[in-house]
Amino acid sequence: MMATTERPGHVVVIGAGILGASIAWRIAQRGVRVTVIDKAGPGSGASSHSFAWINAGAKEPIGYHNLNRRSLELWTRFAEELAPGGRIDEIGLRWGGKVSWESDPAAADALVARVRQLQSWGYPTRLIDAGELARLEPALDIGPVAAAEYSGNEGQVEPQMVVDACLRRLRELDGRVYSDTGVQGFERRDDGSIAAVNTSSGAAEPDAVVLAAGTDTTGLAALAGVNVPQAESPGVVIRTNPLPPLLYNVPVVYAPPLGDGRREIHLRQCADGRMMIGEGDQESLAEDDSQGHADDLLARARRYLPGLAGAQARPVPVGWRPMPLDGYPVLGFASETPNLYVALTHSGVTLAPALSQLAAQEICDGVAADAVLGPYRPQRFAGVTAEQAAATAHPRAGHR
Ligand SMILES: Cc1cc2nc3c(=O)[nH]c(=O)nc-3n(C[C@H](O)[C@H](O)[C@H](O)COP(=O)(O)OP(=O)(O)OC[C@H]3O[C@@H](n4cnc5c(N)ncnc54)[C@H](O)[C@@H]3O)c2cc1C
Repeated sequence: MMATTERPGHVVVIGAGILGASIAWRIAQRGVRVTVIDKAGPGSGASSHSFAWINAGAKEPIGYHNLNRRSLELWTRFAEELAPGGRIDEIGLRWGGKVSWESDPAAADALVARVRQLQSWGYPTRLIDAGELARLEPALDIGPVAAAEYSGNEGQVEPQMVVDACLRRLRELDGRVYSDTGVQGFERRDDGSIAAVNTSSGAAEPDAVVLAAGTDTTGLAALAGVNVPQAESPGVVIRTNPLPPLLYNVPVVYAPPLGDGRREIHLRQCADGRMMIGEGDQESLAEDDSQGHADDLLARARRYLPGLAGAQARPVPVGWRPMPLDGYPVLGFASETPNLYVALTHSGVTLAPALSQLAAQEICDGVAADAVLGPYRPQRFAGVTAEQAAATAHPRAGHR
């Protein structure tokens, strides 16, 4: 932990995805000079590949569920502060919930058990019957229903619009953003702290550095002497051409497998009318980004959403999820490099409002929020091998 309660005068944030951009904005709001550096364009990493479903339902154990839930509940206020004119639709934030259902009896039992567990945690999800499912989202052709649930508190957002809005706010606060500028290494002092950040277009000498470089965090952390292991977690979410509104009430839909041995599909409609379609759950591994696979996903989605007739499938290159090896966030100052603050997480779209507030508070006030972030410190990986870290992995951490 940075051994001072003194507020840093200048912070460099490496990475302008949803996490880096939101942390940068929150730090700048505290009156600190902030420079954001991205090796490509802001938002071009995992954030622009994201399904961007805001949820806390599929998160275990309860501490991690509660962190996600706290962030979900912060999203509206975060968006109102961020979006032009306070209009949350300006960054694509849309509430209305998520429906999922199963046609297979064994899968239905698992769905019911999951709903009961979440209800015991006080989460506002509930079982619904086929009639209510059809009334909730009349656009769907639901087929046979063995069990169904509705989580009315969940929603969606457009990460690229969030990133752009954060950086616009940052510039209003005199922050600087450098695109196409890759961080190549660090100069370190005798105590391990970073004296300079070396980039493809020169060096910066900040008081503190936030490392929010997504999948590249592991390599950059190693250059600063810090172990932040990750799992490989490729995902594919295709798009369609822009379409008129197709989902009227419920923005996020998880539909069951069609009984052909392939996985369930999930879909949502973007603010610009394009439909996003993926398969499996939020952490399923997928690498087929061919036109044939995109056409196949669209055909399966059309089975449940007839309004997709006539839509065209647009394949999207594989997106690589930032994925800490045990599946949980890595947030905090590194012991080996005391002015380096690591910010790496899966579910970064859901978690951005909470993690950006907590990170800015820790960096600017010098007080550790251990009661919330204690389990998520980078120190848990110090001297830990990949095998040891994997042994404590989140059950849904993309290791399957
Ligand atoms: C297919 C898929 C589906 C997902 N679905 C969901 C979902 O439904 N809900 C949810 O909450 N989350 C979801 N996620 C996860 C979520 O999108 C990520 O957790 C989040 O976008 C991570 O944001 P980030 O800012 O940490 O990383 P990124 O968006 O990857 O940003 C990192 C940035 O660092 C920059 N960078 C890298 N190296 C350097 C360097 N050397 N110098 C300078 N800059 C550098 C990159 O250019 C990039 O812009 C999904 C992710 C994927 C891929």
